[in-house]
Amino acid sequence: ALSIVVEDLSKRFSGFAALKGVSLEARPKEFLALLGPSGSGKTTLLRMIAGLDFPDSGRVLFDGADMTETPAAERRIGFVFQNYALFRHMTVADNIAFGLTVRKRRDRPGKADIARRVTELLDLIQLPEIAARYPAQLSGGQRQRVALARALAVEPQLLLLDEPFGALDAQVRKDLRRWLRQLHETMGLTSVIVTHDQEEALELADRVVVMSQGKIEQVGTPAEVYDSPATAFVSQFVGETNRLPVAVSGGRVAYAGMALAADAGGVSGDGELHFRPHQAEMAEPGEGTLAVRIDAVRPRGGGWRVEATTRDDPRPVEIDLREGQAVPHVGDDTAVRVRASRVYAV
Ligand code: ADP
Ligand code: MG
Repeated sequence: ALSIVVEDLSKRFSGFAALKGVSLEARPKEFLALLGPSGSGKTTLLRMIAGLDFPDSGRVLFDGADMTETPAAERRIGFVFQNYALFRHMTVADNIAFGLTVRKRRDRPGKADIARRVTELLDLIQLPEIAARYPAQLSGGQRQRVALARALAVEPQLLLLDEPFGALDAQVRKDLRRWLRQLHETMGLTSVIVTHDQEEALELADRVVVMSQGKIEQVGTPAEVYDSPATAFVSQFVGETNRLPVAVSGGRVAYAGMALAADAGGVSGDGELHFRPHQAEMAEPGEGTLAVRIDAVRPRGGGWRVEATTRDDPRPVEIDLREGQAVPHVGDDTAVRVRASRVYAV
């Protein structure tokens, strides 16, 4: 397995800065997810790790060796893209073998070796029966597994995936995700997946790289980016969060002029208070609580999701209650106590 180091990578497309000085590291056998909204530079970064495109400045190192200018064909990488079109006129077996058959004659395995390798890969993707079929005869999930087998045929040390399950329905995605994680482990790969789906990133990756506007906002384990978001962007992009504009003075946090029991976290002046739906509970109106009116109460995961609106400077907030906690009624004028929160400077 390979280590990857990306050093201060920048890339412009006709004046537009798609990457603005990105640095990160993938350790050998690590599974990294690049997570961010559309346009944040994830694909651009992955393409430079792959050697499909080259940076204006910065370096890409594999096991310490500078690969910045090395083309993709010389990097021993497997890729899978969203809707990675298989060759329609070729059988599954020929699709999987493709990367081996196009090798230069001296590196090309013999016919029997290629056939053996294809059989192994079909077993690996748990589709031993489909060698003779054509892509049009497969489901979306089967096609993506074949695309993965094709990527793995060349025995890469590094697997790069760009939204590979984007076009598939939720249950298939979930199944393929687990299966991909197992494959990553059994093959001892270093893998980097691009996704805009926070659930996918949190479930799959050892570490998540959160990107926005061509920059890295945070690199951390799923628990770190979820529980301790470094920036307001990470807090609202990774997991659900309630956001309220607050004014902080002398460590006192006020929303719409009312003091809230919350830690100012070193911010002073204008700030934004963030708390996740499970970090609050219903309370008697009073000192330090947030006055709300209840808009809806819906069952959710063995408990309740309460949708409310703050009374002063009205804004929506959502609270998760566990089974057994007192549940308010729609239309109640009541209050919320925030148990944990963070204030970000704005
Ligand atoms: P993501 O994968 O996170 O959605 P991309 O890396 O594809 O984002 O794109 C980042 C930004 O760079 C976008 O604004 C996109 O329009 C721009 N961009 C990417 N590739 C090109 C290109 N070849 N030419 C011009 N602009 C590009
Ligand atoms: Mg992309």
